[in-house]
Amino acid sequence: MSGLSVKLKTPATGEYEQPTGLFINNEWVKAVDGKTFEVINPTDESVITSVQEATEKDVDIAVSAARKAFEGSWRKETPENRGKFLVNLANLFEKNIDLLAAVEALDNGKAFAMAKGDVGACAGCLRYYGGWADKIEGKVVDTSHDTFNYIRKEPIGVCGQIIPWNFPLLMWAWKIGPAIAAGNVVVLKTAEQTPLSALVACNLVKEAGFPPGVINVISGFGKVAGAALSSHMDVDKIAFTGSTVVGRQIMKAAAGSNLKKVTLELGGKSPNIVFADADIDNAISWVNFGIYFNHGQCCCAGSRIYVQDSIYDEFIKKFKERAAKNAVGDPFGQETFQGPQVSQIQFDRIMSYIEEGKKSGATIETGGNRKGDKGYFIEPTIFSNVTEDMKIVQEEIFGPVCTISKFSTKEEVIKIGNNTTYGLAAAVHTSNLNTAIEVSNALKAGTVWVNTYNTLHWQLPFGGFKESGIGRELGEAALDNYCQTKTVSIRLGDALFG
Ligand code: ADP
Repeated sequence: MSGLSVKLKTPATGEYEQPTGLFINNEWVKAVDGKTFEVINPTDESVITSVQEATEKDVDIAVSAARKAFEGSWRKETPENRGKFLVNLANLFEKNIDLLAAVEALDNGKAFAMAKGDVGACAGCLRYYGGWADKIEGKVVDTSHDTFNYIRKEPIGVCGQIIPWNFPLLMWAWKIGPAIAAGNVVVLKTAEQTPLSALVACNLVKEAGFPPGVINVISGFGKVAGAALSSHMDVDKIAFTGSTVVGRQIMKAAAGSNLKKVTLELGGKSPNIVFADADIDNAISWVNFGIYFNHGQCCCAGSRIYVQDSIYDEFIKKFKERAAKNAVGDPFGQETFQGPQVSQIQFDRIMSYIEEGKKSGATIETGGNRKGDKGYFIEPTIFSNVTEDMKIVQEEIFGPVCTISKFSTKEEVIKIGNNTTYGLAAAVHTSNLNTAIEVSNALKAGTVWVNTYNTLHWQLPFGGFKESGIGRELGEAALDNYCQTKTVSIRLGDALFG
């Protein structure tokens, strides 16, 4: 690994060896053009290190390594072994939880304790899909006495996977788990803001038993490496998580190349609805967690809060107090709930939305400012006195900023809840079972939480209605993204044709 790793330090684990190369064929390699890019620490804006930057040429190399692995032995690998490798990987994630979480906190800025939760969920997800590997079954269908039909689920082949920076490890596991369980090979591109933890995880891939070329991971920029992957003629499928804007480009690239299969998990502007009969203190906790978890950098963040008019005044008073108390600071601080935003660009984007909100006449109930003068920290922010047409109500801010407004009837809140081009998630807080079910069924969202928020689980499908995406991640549903169906129809007997 000479020249392709550096010694780094985290406050939680001390010194460790950070790989910086491209992970192709179970080896660390340099980028063909010799390019590298810097990785910034969002907590203090310093340069952590530089990593190899993949261009089109490296994408070609990774794709042909994956193709060779797929057409060679991997196609013939037993489902049992595919499952075993995934379970081994899950165990290794658990064994290395402190290191993986510390690198995640260093690079992404999320609190170390939260990052540990992410690593635990990676292990859960990888183990779950390990369990699926030998349970992907076909069917026999009778059409006539002299025909034998069977339907097989086959892997798609070489899967390109492009992930974002908000959950670098979790998105790695969400993408790799179902793809491998179904017998595919992958070339995964991490986000340019956060390449480090995925590279540490790649060190575990070989140890878990995966043959060379089955899992390949490259660092690089979206417009170069991401575009090359999504328009590649030898990539059979592309799976993407990120912004709706880029999701459209990925679809166009797939359409303009080899019509590779596409799944997209995109943005959101999710309504979080509180009825007057809800347990108010519980609702406040979940509403707070719904928007401020992961610093608001969640595609499913509950960023539009609607509270029934009779409890609105009490709710907003308590919610303000709660939000202002969220501990914002160093990701490695014991008490920290919210770390810095991931990058200068994201920080500027969020601050410009806050300015936009002020200009459009909305009221800042709490927050609205940068916190400190170093690092990309932003105070938890609540806007009230908003109207449905305001940008801060319609557009995804992807930061610790929410809007809150009143509603009076169920019918009204269903209508405004659905008044968005997105449809990723929603929540309802109520003690009335009929209200919970009626409103959940009426909301156009891929996930609806009742009296909770952000409680995703690898066993439960997750994905978007409307412009929030195509296909589902997690659960049995994610396997559909990575299998294709083949019908084999066999004519029996010796009757002459015609
Ligand atoms: P954000 O705006 O939050 O940074 P993006 O949707 O831009 O999110 O990025 C998510 C992922 O998509 C990253 O890995 C990024 O490199 C990649 N990406 C960005 N632009 C493109 C593109 N044109 N083609 C393919 N991938 C892209």
